[in-house]
Amino acid sequence: ATATAPSLRARRLRLRYGEFTALDDVDLDVLPGRVSAVVGPNGAGKSTLFHCLAGTLRPDAGQVRLGERDITRLPAHARTRLGIARTFQQLAVFPSMSVADNVRVGAEQGRVADPGAVERALRLFALDGAVRSAPAAGLPTGTLRRVELARALAGSPRVLLLDEPSAGLDSAEVAALTRVLRALADDGTALLVVEHDLDLVAELADVVHVMAAGRIVTSGPADHVLGPEAGR
Ligand code: ADP
Ligand code: MG
Repeated sequence: ATATAPSLRARRLRLRYGEFTALDDVDLDVLPGRVSAVVGPNGAGKSTLFHCLAGTLRPDAGQVRLGERDITRLPAHARTRLGIARTFQQLAVFPSMSVADNVRVGAEQGRVADPGAVERALRLFALDGAVRSAPAAGLPTGTLRRVELARALAGSPRVLLLDEPSAGLDSAEVAALTRVLRALADDGTALLVVEHDLDLVAELADVVHVMAAGRIVTSGPADHVLGPEAGR
């Protein structure tokens, strides 16, 4: 077992785009060894919350903490160094770089630059053989998602933030992704998944938060929040 990850905590987050309130007093805990999920309709504020946790947006009010540390004002790259890795809803790999080099960048930007972690991340996401030296440009979406995930993991993060990780994946790829994410959580990583695929959420998440109009309106175990039929 690895050292326990600190919790990532949001308290009373508020964020406005002009007059429009996108986050309205949001509290959220992302716990080590757990998969937390945020679900809700388009426009609910899920990605905005995600950006506040990752550091790509600064909230107008409220606090983000990693363990005891206040990171509200830290930029994204500094949070990555502290062990908060993320993927992007819109894929963001370096197109001219090879798959393996894309993943190495993740190790260099992460908490620890460990070549062993690069190899483990490549293998965990089945990036083996010739694909490792292929330029990222032109690879299928499913492969690029795995490159992004491997890149996030290569820095040995303690918190992993995933915005729509199943987007563009076929059902076999979603099943494989579910197994890998479960194993990472069981190893002590704190995972947060923003996801519209409720079957995936029901299968994977330990706790589900439902957002609507900038607020978290319900939280609880997946079968409680989504109903016993979800994911069956
Ligand atoms: P979700 O990820 O749940 O679909 P978002 O966090 O992307 O929701 O967006 C929440 C609300 O904020 C939406 O109504 C969206 O139109 C609005 N919004 C998002 N980004 C911006 C922006 N840069 N400027 C203005 N409004 C935005
Ligand atoms: Mg979104």
